[in-house]
This record gives sequence, structure tokens and C-alpha cells, in this order.
Amino acid sequence: MNIVLLGPPGAGKGTQGERIASRLGIPKLATGDVLRAAVTAKTELGLRAKAAMERGDLVPDSVILGIMKEALAEPAKAKGVVLDGVVRTVPQAEGLARVLGELGRQVDAVLLFEVGEDELVRRLSARTTCEGCQAPYTGREPGTACDKCGGKLVRRKDDEPEAIRSRMKAYREQTEPVVAWYEHRARTSDDAKARDHNGPRVVRLNALGDIDEITKIVMKGLGK
Ligand code: AMP
Repeated sequence: MNIVLLGPPGAGKGTQGERIASRLGIPKLATGDVLRAAVTAKTELGLRAKAAMERGDLVPDSVILGIMKEALAEPAKAKGVVLDGVVRTVPQAEGLARVLGELGRQVDAVLLFEVGEDELVRRLSARTTCEGCQAPYTGREPGTACDKCGGKLVRRKDDEPEAIRSRMKAYREQTEPVVAWYEHRARTSDDAKARDHNGPRVVRLNALGDIDEITKIVMKGLGK
């Protein structure tokens, strides 16, 4: 199963993505994690992405398509993958359909995490993230140790107020149209029935609730 997680920053895609991936026994791919690792390692990819990331802007589609292409061809991902924050623009959604199509696969489900912007700003401003394993924490001071791996908790540069505002703007302007793109695809392929692929199932989630409850709803929405 290839599953796309869509939703604004801070909506809980990462946390739920881990859970869904482990329950389905498939890996997760988060472009944000790939890019942060590249920035830390100062690779060419990292150098290309760093400034845009720190401002809270999106990195160019070509960069993301390169990461998608390489990662999705890995044998470990042949059975399926949970894509967290990987699709953030319509050209990326089109590119993903193409890359998966070349591998004889398709997007099976799109999970849309919905939360109001005030709540997101509140969550992101209180968030620290492990430098090592990227685990997020709410209300824990920078400099303290990660419960999972012992790494140091830091405030991500893009969790500063100005960058948060840019990320919300990028979501509204560039990612929200992706939701309509997938919904249209789901509808037209349902109606037409005779297509060379089925459209994805689009599941809307109220991402404000209890973490366990959301996981249950997600699994049900996926028919599991
Ligand atoms: P995230 O960890 O998902 O919040 O991503 C952190 C940052 O990485 C984003 O604010 C973007 O600058 C960049 N990024 C991650 N994924 C993408 C993507 N699919 N398209 C464009 N930029 C991305």
C-alpha cells in the first residue's frame, strides 16, 4: 500500500506516520527528515536545501522528485510506503504518480490531517525535536535528552515564529491545491471505473483528537 500523508506542519503526520508504517509493516519516507540529514552532513543536496528550509519555504520540486525517485526504487519499499510530507505541490503529486507508475504502482490512499492554524502555531512554537532520531516533543526544553535515543533536543530553526508563518503560507498556497487534485482523481476514476488505474481513497481526519483515537480512525479508513 502506498499512502500519502497530507496536512499542514504540526498536524501530527510524523507521529501517525510512524504508527501506520509499523502497523502495516512498511517503511516511512519523510522528505523533511531526508533533507535535514543532508543539511547536517553538508552534502550537495543539503547545501541546495538549507536556506529555503530555514526560511520555512519549500525546496524546489526537482529536488523532491530526485529524492522520491531514488527512495521509491529501493527494494525495502517495494511492498509499499508511508509518504510523510513528500507531496506538497501539484507538480510533486504528478511526479509521484509518474514515478510509482513506472514501478507498476500507484497511490492507494491519501490521509488528510485537518487542524486549525492557531492550534498549529501553538504546537510548533512549543515543539523541540531530537537532533538524532527526529522525535518531536511538546513543552520540553532545548538541551534536554531524547527519551528514545538519548540525543539532544533542539528547537528547529523553522519552528521559530517567522518561519512558522512562511510554512503555513506555503501550505495554504501550494499544498492545499494538492488535496483537490487527489479528490478530483479519486472521483473521476470512481465514476469512470474503466481507467488504467484506480484513484486513491481520500480520508479526511480531524487531527485535533487523542493520538490513539486518530490511529484507530486511520486504520479503519484504510480498511485495516
Ligand atoms: P517537514 O519536516 O516535513 O516539516 O519539512 C521541513 C522542511 O523541509 C519544509 O519546511 C520544506 O522546506 C522542506 N521540505 C520537506 N518536504 C518537502 C517537499 N515535499 N517539498 C518541498 N519542500 C519540502
